[in-house]
Amino acid sequence: MALVTGASSGIGRATAQAMGAAGAKVAVNYRSQEDEAKNVVAAIEKAGGEAIAIGADVSDEADVEAMFKATAKRFGAVDVVVANAGMQKDAASAEMSLDDWRKVIDVNLTGQFLCARAALRRFRAQGDRGVSKARGKLICMSSVHDLIPWAGHVNYAASKGGISMMMKTLAQEFAQERVRVNAISPGAIRTAINEEETEGEAGKELLKLIPYGRIGAAEDVANAAVWLASDLADYMVGATLYVDGGMTLYPEFRGNG
Ligand code: NAD
Repeated sequence: MALVTGASSGIGRATAQAMGAAGAKVAVNYRSQEDEAKNVVAAIEKAGGEAIAIGADVSDEADVEAMFKATAKRFGAVDVVVANAGMQKDAASAEMSLDDWRKVIDVNLTGQFLCARAALRRFRAQGDRGVSKARGKLICMSSVHDLIPWAGHVNYAASKGGISMMMKTLAQEFAQERVRVNAISPGAIRTAINEEETEGEAGKELLKLIPYGRIGAAEDVANAAVWLASDLADYMVGATLYVDGGMTLYPEFRGNG
């Protein structure tokens, strides 16, 4: 059973559908896009799977607790959590309002912590259900900007850098309970979060940063998430998987620097 946050669009949507296709029952979390979430549920069901849509703001503690309760009530357990919900509020650092700093940290970092905490508590309480080698799998959706500084996006880059250390600390703390915590750091993936950066001239400029020569699809990340959640990845603990077409390989240095 898999719970995916921010699953009414983009990477979360593709991940929910891929988890469903891989045989997991899926909880499709959304914040405000209820119709889109219901469409994701319908797509999973059409493909022969089982899913529900659950509204919750991941930055709200009571919402997150209620989301886990509702998921467990419907499916009996939670085995995989993909903490994917995220947002951007961009501004030059000197002009960034405290409100925009806080909003992004609240959703991207605190939201992932709240989901991680609820997931780990549940994995611990459930014990060994015999459905996979690990007792629970948590996947944090980070970004190449946990590594690459990003001018004009200081709140976002700080949130992703924070996720990286949060993930490793949680992995260290819970590995002995046979719970696997890992992260995925996507590069440039074409979704609603970056429409302006991936289309037209901006998209062509972006390609210069991607050695593999194409902008990623949400499915590229979803496939990595399915693998990371599966027993094929049973020895993956505290790792960050960069799914980025080589963006983190410093392509500027290709011509000898
Ligand atoms: P997206 O905008 O399509 O998806 C983000 C989702 O999060 C949306 O469905 C949105 O409704 C949801 N969300 C936002 N705030 C929420 C809240 N408070 N509670 C619950 N849900 C909330 O964009 P995406 O590209 O699919 O982003 C998904 C994740 O992938 C994000 O964490 C993002 O930072 C990360 N990411 C994306 C890219 C990329 O190139 N697209 C690259 C690196 C990392």
